[in-house]
Amino acid sequence: MKTWIYIFLLFSLRPLFAQEPDAPKLIVGIVVDQMRDEYLQRFRDKFVEDGFRRLMDEGFRFKEMHFNYVPTYTGPGHASIYTGTTPAVHGIVGNHWVQAADRKVIYCVDDEQVKTLGVAGKSGKKSPGQLLSTTLSDQLKLAGQFKPRVLSVSLKDRAAILPGGFFADWAFWLDKQSGKMISSSFYGHSLPAWVDDFNRQGRARQWLAHPWETLLPLKSYAESYADDNPYEQLFPGEEHPVFPHDLPAIRQKMGLELLYHTPFGNDFLAEFAKAAIEGEDLGNHPGTSDMLMISFSSTDVVGHRYGPQSVEVEDTYLRLDRTLSALFRYLDEKIGKGRYLLFLTSDHGVAEVPAFIKDKKGAAGYFNSDSLFQGLKARLFELFHDSLAIAAYNHQIYFNPEKMPPMYEAKKAIYEAVKDYYLQQEGVARVYTEYDMAACGSGDAYCDELSRGFLPARSGEVLILLKPGWLSHEMRGSSHGSPYNYDTHVPFLLYGWHIPKGANSERVFINDVAPTICELLGIDLPSGNTGKGLTNKF
Ligand SMILES: [Zn+2]
Repeated sequence: MKTWIYIFLLFSLRPLFAQEPDAPKLIVGIVVDQMRDEYLQRFRDKFVEDGFRRLMDEGFRFKEMHFNYVPTYTGPGHASIYTGTTPAVHGIVGNHWVQAADRKVIYCVDDEQVKTLGVAGKSGKKSPGQLLSTTLSDQLKLAGQFKPRVLSVSLKDRAAILPGGFFADWAFWLDKQSGKMISSSFYGHSLPAWVDDFNRQGRARQWLAHPWETLLPLKSYAESYADDNPYEQLFPGEEHPVFPHDLPAIRQKMGLELLYHTPFGNDFLAEFAKAAIEGEDLGNHPGTSDMLMISFSSTDVVGHRYGPQSVEVEDTYLRLDRTLSALFRYLDEKIGKGRYLLFLTSDHGVAEVPAFIKDKKGAAGYFNSDSLFQGLKARLFELFHDSLAIAAYNHQIYFNPEKMPPMYEAKKAIYEAVKDYYLQQEGVARVYTEYDMAACGSGDAYCDELSRGFLPARSGEVLILLKPGWLSHEMRGSSHGSPYNYDTHVPFLLYGWHIPKGANSERVFINDVAPTICELLGIDLPSGNTGKGLTNKF
């Protein structure tokens, strides 16, 4: 009898002693734009102990995280990381694409219906309106009855907006002209006071007030090719692409947009991220997990300008490492070690500079997308006496539906002519049509990767796959977009709340990131999710 009373008391009193739900106070998602996984290894010895190395040594590292679709660009990358699916489902098939309805070129976060907040002009007329799936943070909002505070910040509008999904309280990005962080009326009526305060400090200007010198002595950058070489772009007024880069002088010519092209854009954003944590009191709301998404864009812009073997890229990562170290120490103090869950990944990698690889007698080349498209139009006119193809975007050919024959056979004949034309061009590996996309899955891995990036209403009807190492780009600098290792292999590091120390070398995919975080948090998956949680691999 006595035992029963104890059991009764235990259960009836339990709610009174219930602890706060076991959940992190803050989830921090970090995307480093254009970060290859190999940078973690190549620059490791120059990293400080508690930047990237804290995540590698004390957190969990997936060593073979890959993108599994084409095209590997910023808009699709950010959407895929946070929706747990690929462009075929979340709909962000490129940074730009041609809209089926009117065949107009649209930008992935443009929205004419909303207003800019923070400055005059159109730089804030943006929203996630083109996104077709909920995101990780949307699911956090739904699971918490909209109580969690969710913010997303980046210099690039698309890198702030797409991660934030439909329900983020705010997404903020940089207005290039004024150097101010801005937003759109999609999120609210006016900028929060803490954003105005931040903007009043004029930090963009201050970060550009000094020349860009290397962080360490130049001769110690043995992981990169020589500073002076023919593979890097020049800033206006420069004769050689070498340190020090005279930022105050270059700013006179480029304006505050220059911030994107230097590692100091990352420092500027980290300051803004801290202001966001303070301003919104993130991580300090009883009973909920808040979320902050940070996407560092300068790594991408510097990478495009100088290529992955440059001293400038190495220096940008060494500086970002120190910036992250300071951010982690701030989070330890503000939120508490073990009380925040942090992950870091990237939206795509980057190719080697083709001219550099060619000079070293490797396989690479330049594909002149624009002039070849002009040639295609002429060829189609010759064969079919009509202007059928209207645009080439993301290595996809879009046709004018009004000029195209409705019947399968007639359409197929046109597509075959396009295929023939491109297969004769140097640098082309394969060409697929929209009909091929529907039949993928039979063992052609590239067909599968293209089909995971293909959505009929937004993608072109013929898709061109270049050979490895080939780019449609000017002769200096580099780019990305392919299904090849250099573009797909990115870091995936987890650290903090409920994350064990360890590493795993199985090949995993970018749409596994969001379901892994959902699994850890015990919340439902994003609506379009096609990935799988990876916590069983810890
Ligand atoms: Zn890029």
